[in-house]
Amino acid sequence: MASAQHLRDAIRDIPDFPKPGVVFKDITPILSDPSLFKESLELLCQTAQGQKIDKVVGIDARGFIFAAAVADRLNAGFVPVRKQGKLPWQTRQLAYTLEYGESVVEIHEDAVHPGEKVLLVDDLLATGGTAAAAVQLLDGLGADLVAISFLIELGFLNGREKLGDHRIESLIRYD
Ligand code: IMP
Repeated sequence: MASAQHLRDAIRDIPDFPKPGVVFKDITPILSDPSLFKESLELLCQTAQGQKIDKVVGIDARGFIFAAAVADRLNAGFVPVRKQGKLPWQTRQLAYTLEYGESVVEIHEDAVHPGEKVLLVDDLLATGGTAAAAVQLLDGLGADLVAISFLIELGFLNGREKLGDHRIESLIRYD
């Protein structure tokens, strides 16, 4: 049985990255270790709770790493939510507020069909703005959002309050 403790032990705190005052959670030691990466994927797959998932949606950019591998394991398709200007086909867009300024995320308008069961995956939930924007895009396409799964949740930032009453799972939580 996979355990989140191994994953927690591997996460590296990087002070003052990408700017002074921020302590960045570096997950690359998990990715570079075959057994830790496998554990993280097994645990993220469990958040689907055995439900049939049609699409796993990953958020730009670290979310892609996990979401694509989870999609393969769940025999689901993979769909990217990307930063503005990266997707080549017709998109739905959503602007959201960051700590400083604004960002825009996009999804291909035909990437998820109404009623399809979706698992949304990202590496980290901080203030929740990014995931909330992805949720709004998926709601707009009529997705049936089964759960939102994060490797890490910074609980002290209360990001889950922005995600409505969707089921939210995180493997590692910092309070
Ligand atoms: P939020 O929108 O404030 O919840 O920020 C979450 C997004 O920022 C996710 O897509 C993360 O990839 C990224 N992020 C924020 N802080 C960190 C961190 O400490 N480590 C890794 N990614 C982070």
